Amino acid sequence: MLERLRRIVQQVAGARSLGQALELIVEEVRAALGTDVCSIYLAERDTGRLVLMATRGLAPQAVGRVALGPGEGLVGLVAARAEPVNLEDAPSHPHFKYIAETGEAPFHAFLGVPVIHQRRVRGVLVVQQRERRRFDEDHVTFLVTLAAQLAGVIAHAEAVGGLELGNGEGAPAAPEPAAPPRRRVLDGLPGAPGVALGTAVVVYPPAELDAVPDRPAADVAAEEAAFREAVAAVTEEFRRLQARLGPQLKAEDRALFDAYILMLSGDSLVTDTVARIRAGSWAPGALRETIEEHARVFDAMDDPYLRERAADVRDLGRRILAQLQAARRESRDWPERTVLVGEQITAADLGEVPAGRLAAIVSAHGSRSSHVAILARALGIPAVMGVAELPIQRLEGREVVVDGYRGRLHVQPTGQVREEFLRLAREEEELRAGLSELAAQPSVTPDGEHVPLLANTGLLADITPSLTSGAEGIGLYRTEIPFLMRERFPGEEEQRRIYRQVLEAFAPRPVTLRTLDVGGDKNLAYFPVHEANPFLGWRGIRITLDHPEIFLTQLRAMLRASAGLGNLQILLPMVSGVEEVDDAVLLIRRAREELAEEGEAVPEPRVGVMVEVPSAVYMARRLAARVDFLSIGTNDLIQYLLAVDRNNERVAELYEPFHPAVLAAVQAAVDGGHAAGRPVSVCGEMAGDPAAALLLLGMGVDSLSMSASSLPRVKWVVRSFTRAEARALLEEARALEHPHEVRERVEAALEARGLGGLVRAGK
Ligand code: PEP
Ligand code: MG
Repeated sequence: MLERLRRIVQQVAGARSLGQALELIVEEVRAALGTDVCSIYLAERDTGRLVLMATRGLAPQAVGRVALGPGEGLVGLVAARAEPVNLEDAPSHPHFKYIAETGEAPFHAFLGVPVIHQRRVRGVLVVQQRERRRFDEDHVTFLVTLAAQLAGVIAHAEAVGGLELGNGEGAPAAPEPAAPPRRRVLDGLPGAPGVALGTAVVVYPPAELDAVPDRPAADVAAEEAAFREAVAAVTEEFRRLQARLGPQLKAEDRALFDAYILMLSGDSLVTDTVARIRAGSWAPGALRETIEEHARVFDAMDDPYLRERAADVRDLGRRILAQLQAARRESRDWPERTVLVGEQITAADLGEVPAGRLAAIVSAHGSRSSHVAILARALGIPAVMGVAELPIQRLEGREVVVDGYRGRLHVQPTGQVREEFLRLAREEEELRAGLSELAAQPSVTPDGEHVPLLANTGLLADITPSLTSGAEGIGLYRTEIPFLMRERFPGEEEQRRIYRQVLEAFAPRPVTLRTLDVGGDKNLAYFPVHEANPFLGWRGIRITLDHPEIFLTQLRAMLRASAGLGNLQILLPMVSGVEEVDDAVLLIRRAREELAEEGEAVPEPRVGVMVEVPSAVYMARRLAARVDFLSIGTNDLIQYLLAVDRNNERVAELYEPFHPAVLAAVQAAVDGGHAAGRPVSVCGEMAGDPAAALLLLGMGVDSLSMSASSLPRVKWVVRSFTRAEARALLEEARALEHPHEVRERVEAALEARGLGGLVRAGK
């Protein structure tokens, strides 16, 4: 049964349209369970009506016509209860509704299970049998397991299908039982504020066939030529490999190369792909289709040896794709207003877009706290994250409106949506213009207390906004960004030059360079780390202490960059105990001594520890006593305290800066730092949220560091509330138990001070 289940899920996931997916499901389930009938009903998004979308065993003409209201009939009952209904004799059940059109009179046994995705019933999967009997436990668990696995696939296919142009572009026509509802608005999570109108450019990981989007061929002859060249290059690659490895290989392994070469010369792989290109698809899309079609044939075979061949076909496809992509990379055209769309956008993807053309980011995975969303905020462009049903393959070249406030994507927006977008953009521009006057004003509370506001950065390109935003220094420079954007570890001199630019630009104001913080969701392609739980694994200072050669190179580069300036602060990430600080401080001292021995005397840097692991909260006083300052990284602190992966859109709702436990932890860290006589800063995203910043002021935080685009808003807050007022508000917030109550209370305080614009803009 498990094998059957796996095969069905795999086949359905490979379907190119909703119709094809549903047809496959009913066909395969009926065969697997040996029932007379299998049908699937899908819920209409707006009305909740359950529409019969595919069937085997009921009258085919009922498909697309028969629909049941919520709670109506047995199918409606399954949806309303959101649990299976298993009946020996359906017609005698009070909920049974006879619908002549389906021809279901002769069926007695009924088993219906709900298809649930993200807490919402998306449909009902039903099997029926002529005889009177209850379906046994195995049938029920099979169907429940299958429905749970298929729910996401169906939801995704629904979104894809809803955006299909209906002109048969791309895939060969699949049976479409009924037009699915057209969906032009896709919901995700707010990643970075702002709205933008632009053209979608799909980014996909190299050599990943499944991720290749559909795209029409701009020039059929050129696409065919490119494909044939790629095939020739792969054939050549195999010949070379065979010649090189031949003597060491056993005869049967050598034969594998022959089989590959044979597949590439004259096999239907090539002719089918060329046919698809000639029908109008670009080469990578045509290749993806052909490879999937061929691999599926092997997937469906019962013989395990032949089934394995599917992997060979896919491997071949990946190699051809890699060749095609390599040839295409240099000649890419970027629209004026590029909206990057992808399963998982990386910092390196952002770096590929020419300066000034990146308008927004839309990602199927991730959340507000993902690093790419943080980068978007640093760049001042909107981002929508975690769009679970993003029909990536159909978005290339479409006009889209990205609403980073609400976390929404509008595909091919109507005139009305465009109007609304333009109004929002105007309002935002007005707010920005009003706030920009604040840049020159000091960050001082009404009772005269100075609360320095600093900028977070890490991209060379965004030093200018940080400078012009009125930042009093850099509170967090994420040095990993230059590491992520290269193909090898940057050398000491290369790093020195990068750090020098920032240190010089801000001198004499302080610049806080954080030591390399990779791992978690930041992987270096040239230093891969594969772990089951990367956020709990080898990350940040754990890596650099294990690799003193990498750490010392970076520390030497930082120290040398500060020569003659004296404004360097070094910040240590992911610290969980005192030994790490002691070891790091020793290495900093050693790097400085080495430089002195080499005749390069550099000023002593101030050193700080990030508080972003719960253990560091409890150790705050002891950690602070060893260094010059603490900086609270709320992004990770929230993730570890609430056990919510900051990158996982499924649990994004639980990621709550206003959670009472988060407020208590931040307060404890502030108090610990102060008990050791050291200043405490906050450099996580909480510092840039006007409402959260107000509470941080109340906690006694000494300075705040945030993306340059958030800085004017937070300055407005600082200039509007005294410390005592912020403390009083914090006291009130402490009495509340629910995060949403805390947020509402603080937002009400902002509104009452006439700062409602900040609240609305931050949403
Ligand atoms: C943090 O964790 O709050 C932080 C500032 O670091 P990063 O977001 O780079 O992990
Ligand atoms: Mg962090």
